[in-house]
Amino acid sequence: MILFRQLFDPRTWTYTYVLADPITRDAVIIDPVLEQVERDLAVLAEMQVKVRYILETHVHADHITGGGKLRHATGAQFVAGAGTQLDCADVLVADGDVLVFGNEVIRALGTPGHTDGCTSYHWRNCLFTGDTLLIDACGRTDFQQGCSKKMYDSLQKLLAYPDETLVYPAHDYNGRHVSSVAQERGINPYVVGLDREAFEQKMRELNLPHPRFIDVAVPGNLKCGEVD
Ligand code: FE
Repeated sequence: MILFRQLFDPRTWTYTYVLADPITRDAVIIDPVLEQVERDLAVLAEMQVKVRYILETHVHADHITGGGKLRHATGAQFVAGAGTQLDCADVLVADGDVLVFGNEVIRALGTPGHTDGCTSYHWRNCLFTGDTLLIDACGRTDFQQGCSKKMYDSLQKLLAYPDETLVYPAHDYNGRHVSSVAQERGINPYVVGLDREAFEQKMRELNLPHPRFIDVAVPGNLKCGEVD
């Protein structure tokens, strides 16, 4: 048995995940949102678990992380990918690094492209893909050191996992909660039939609007969400 929760922030369409060892009650939380910290603390209390690590998939542009506040409330360590170069993090993880909570192990995977510091996490048969691999999509690569070349390689890396591996993204804007490697390999329009060059061209031509909260979110996240 394992303990697992998927939580949703409707303002920014962000998924937050809690994973815990049911025996030792040690937990990790992935991508908490500042405005949802009270909810998250209530969920952790209800699950009767103790958070060891707060894992960020990247420096978000659409919301401020709840990690700073949660760190103070729980004593957990703030973890981000080495590529974020976040001075405020307690632990910077490189590709392949593992974190242990109770009898559970979660592995960091360097998956740059949306940002340089983007990190996915592999736990049991689940991938937490941040804004790298989304359901039927991938993260944009047109700001914050975005790079479609790196995104292409990161998508290949994630899609090399076995078919049945579950894919839990940082967002979904269409009410979907989970996908699988087989499904994304089979029908994701940012994957199917695209070689590197075609992918880069598709990303170049997206012309997306500037994110609503980026001017507040990025500076806040560079301080690990420790904002007034
Ligand atoms: Fe993002």
